[in-house]
Amino acid sequence: MKNILVHIRTSFKLIFLLVASVIIILAAIKFIYKPMYSVTFNGEFVGYVQDKDKLENKIKAYMKNGEGANVDYVDIPVLPEYKICLLKNDKKASDDEIYNMVKSTGITYYKYYAVTVGDEEKIYVSTKEQADEIIEKLKNKNSSNKSKLGVTEKSETEVKEFTEVAQAVDELYVEPVRKTYVATTGSVGNVGGSNTATGVPISISLSRPTSGVVWSRYGMRTNPVSGSYTMHTGMDIANSQGTSITASAAGTVKFTGWFGGYGNLVILSHGNGVETYYAHCQSILVSAGQSVSAGQTIALMGSTGNSTGPHCHFEVRVNGVAQNPQTYVN
Ligand SMILES: [Zn+2]
Repeated sequence: MKNILVHIRTSFKLIFLLVASVIIILAAIKFIYKPMYSVTFNGEFVGYVQDKDKLENKIKAYMKNGEGANVDYVDIPVLPEYKICLLKNDKKASDDEIYNMVKSTGITYYKYYAVTVGDEEKIYVSTKEQADEIIEKLKNKNSSNKSKLGVTEKSETEVKEFTEVAQAVDELYVEPVRKTYVATTGSVGNVGGSNTATGVPISISLSRPTSGVVWSRYGMRTNPVSGSYTMHTGMDIANSQGTSITASAAGTVKFTGWFGGYGNLVILSHGNGVETYYAHCQSILVSAGQSVSAGQTIALMGSTGNSTGPHCHFEVRVNGVAQNPQTYVN
């Protein structure tokens, strides 16, 4: 019995000693060694890091935000690989060096916007808002390239030079096209009627006389007032009562006043048999015999004569024969 007790006590002592020495050994290891990550980058050992998560997060943040303005993202093609190991305490961690090394392999993509005309990138701006503002302004100025304007988002490794909004509008603005009408003696091509003039070709440039919606075009149509199917000899541009009507080209006022279904009418003569008509006016601001310059306000839009609402009936005549005005203006 006593022997057994001695035996148990001896066993406890042994176990205690064993545990104690394991603890001492572990403490010694802890004192001399620490866990670190050995880092391999592009297949090469590049150093040790203490805090793998911190380094990884720092790299991720750099890939997302980069440095400086207009960064879209940073592409780092190869990321470091980590392997945990126990190293002597005096082994230096090189987190910063490794971070800088990885960073230096990054390719920065910049995000910005191109204002395009057709398929061509014309100018570059920093934000979508600026691109939209440029297009809005060009549309308001009725730039003739307005229907071809667009915005493309760019993500490139190089930033193009940015243009200020006001300068971009100046650079991209194109004056509305004045289609040139050429009529030749003996009526060729789209020239209607008989030209008894001298044989000198007629060249005239006309612009749209007012802003608004084209209600009705030149050609056969059911007349909105009479209901009969007849020829419409001009184009109808509708807008609100009182909208300015301007001379389509420089010329002389040939007629002003009431003229049957035309209501209040202005006829301008541009020489060489070319005349333009502006009908249904609310009021007329010029008088017969007067010279007018292109773009000068000659009347205000109304709904006089045979008319169902405020609009300008615009006619182009060559030697008295009505032409399709949309050959010259749109
Ligand atoms: Zn009309």
